[in-house]
Amino acid sequence: MLGGGSNMLLTGPIDALVIHVNLKGISIENENQDYIHLCCMAGENWHDFVLHCIDNNYGGLENMSLIPGNVGTAPIQNIGAYGVELKDVFLKCDAIEIATFKEVSFTHQECNFGYRNSIFKTTHKGKYVITRVTFKLTKNNHKIQTQYGAINEHLSMNNSDKPHY
Ligand SMILES: Cc1cc2nc3c(=O)[nH]c(=O)nc-3n(C[C@H](O)[C@H](O)[C@H](O)COP(=O)(O)OP(=O)(O)OC[C@H]3O[C@@H](n4cnc5c(N)ncnc54)[C@H](O)[C@@H]3O)c2cc1C
Repeated sequence: MLGGGSNMLLTGPIDALVIHVNLKGISIENENQDYIHLCCMAGENWHDFVLHCIDNNYGGLENMSLIPGNVGTAPIQNIGAYGVELKDVFLKCDAIEIATFKEVSFTHQECNFGYRNSIFKTTHKGKYVITRVTFKLTKNNHKIQTQYGAINEHLSMNNSDKPHY
């Protein structure tokens, strides 16, 4: 299974079937005045998705910009950066069970996220293709996370306790 390929080191030719997950699309599943449930297909580039959210004023992913890879791969290791992890904004993901081709959904709780970890790296490793991820993001009253060292230092140097947005 190949996503963006950023977490792979090819040390020789691969004599096997390679499936590149290239499903595209972003859609709104649900929204109210304060929150949006945004679905993103697995083949979307992660950073492009973060930029899409920032452009539309959806809050929650901004600290995780520039992490290499695709959206569908993000839950596998519960990607994170600058004090924020995928689990903080994750609602559910859809997947196909490879053994049966059945479509299934995994809730936040079922994914059993830990630091750079989830069931997709442990009990369910290699058993599912993640096809879609749904996020719960803010539409206002964004919870800007600036406590992380490098961000905090940068803001202090610029005499600002809040980034501009
Ligand atoms: C320079 C660099 C910086 C990085 N910085 C960070 C960081 O700050 N924070 C962080 O958390 N990570 C970081 N990473 C790790 C990397 O960004 C993540 O592991 C990312 O999720 C990999 O995504 P990918 O689509 O490129 O995965 P790939 O390399 O394509 O695949 C990784 C694994 O997931 C499997 N896979 C891929 N797509 C699917 C799918 N749809 N369903 C099921 N299995 C699938 C593959 O078979 C493979 O085993 C960094 C990596 C690099 C190279």
